[in-house]
Amino acid sequence: MSRTADAIRSADEHSAHNYHPLPVVVASAEGAWMTDVEGRRYLDMLAGYSALNFGHGNRRLIDAAKAQLERVTLTSRAFHHDRFAEFCTELAALCGKEMVLPMNTGAEAVETAVKTARKWGYEVKGVPDGQAKIVVAADNFHGRTTTIVSFSTDHDARDHFGPYTPGFEIVPYGDLTALSRAVTANTVAVLLEPIQGEAGVLVPPPGYLAGVRELTRERNVLFMADEIQSGLGRTGKTFACEHEGVVPDVYVLGKALGGGVVPVSAVVADRDVLGVFRPGEHGSTFGGNPLACAVALEVIAMLRTGEYQQRATELGDHLHRELNLLTGGGAVTAVRGRGLWAGVDIDPARGSGREVSEKLMERGVLVKDTHGSTVRIAPPLVISKEDLDWGLEQLRTVLAG
Ligand code: PLP
Repeated sequence: MSRTADAIRSADEHSAHNYHPLPVVVASAEGAWMTDVEGRRYLDMLAGYSALNFGHGNRRLIDAAKAQLERVTLTSRAFHHDRFAEFCTELAALCGKEMVLPMNTGAEAVETAVKTARKWGYEVKGVPDGQAKIVVAADNFHGRTTTIVSFSTDHDARDHFGPYTPGFEIVPYGDLTALSRAVTANTVAVLLEPIQGEAGVLVPPPGYLAGVRELTRERNVLFMADEIQSGLGRTGKTFACEHEGVVPDVYVLGKALGGGVVPVSAVVADRDVLGVFRPGEHGSTFGGNPLACAVALEVIAMLRTGEYQQRATELGDHLHRELNLLTGGGAVTAVRGRGLWAGVDIDPARGSGREVSEKLMERGVLVKDTHGSTVRIAPPLVISKEDLDWGLEQLRTVLAG
């Protein structure tokens, strides 16, 4: 049996089947390339769902991690450590906000945002206790906890995980009229992805985010932007909200914040919002640990240069130009996205997203399908134009076949 088949069989035997990975077993990676246990090389066009914006094994991030590994990795928040203040100060500054609440995974940060909004609602806005409502969008993806799947519209994510957490109202994404109707006196927050990643890289209609901003400001409701996948360079800006000149009240960050090295997430907001927490009311053993702070500080410094945002813009323009050439009568029925991030809808008659992903894998390109007929393209922002073109060439070949 090949090493690949052996590893997959063993994983199938001893791990829960909550994923359906492509049949490739990665052994090492560098930049935009991964190598499997057989020595085959693949171009990574997924980048860990945008957690690897700076590429695999990024020297600056690895060096920062190694230096911190030799000093101290974990203190818990029972004590202060010497990277914490620096991390919070720098991240708050990057976001133009005053305070940071660090966690680890994206779902934890979303949970933290939900708790923040509810507490703010009761203690600042004056909503009667237990009555807070958060308005969310259909087709959202915010993570996998029981509360978060309670307001998912994806049956796979939600079914048979009840009883569900109340206090959420779901409205169609991109529909300001529906949102306006849903925001009532007890509404404490609107929680949205500025671009819906897992839904297939859905970009809302122009003016939507600005409209959400105006509406939430008028009605004294927090606008919480889940920028876990869209943020930190992917779309060509530090935050996807910037494309509409919008500054939300709360940023929810994760994925690329940990540079693909360690899980780092955070909620970032001003003092009048995050100031609602007092000792003992929320926390995490690993949240804001020294290793996480050291890596995230390097991520923030890299984003400060603007270099990655510019790459995402330039390569993204090229990517979308090339992908748009595939629409109009061919195998591709639609292309969406922004920056170095695209959702490509495949004509179901020509194969499913999974089939296209498998054929691409055979040609040395790794992507991931979503919702049956969509293929997502989100390579590391450090990918070279030549490699991107090579990946696109493989896509064209697969779609032509
Ligand atoms: N929010 C968004 C927009 C995401 O795309 C994801 C993950 O894909 C999450 C939250 C959940 O993050 P995690 O998987 O780190 O819990």
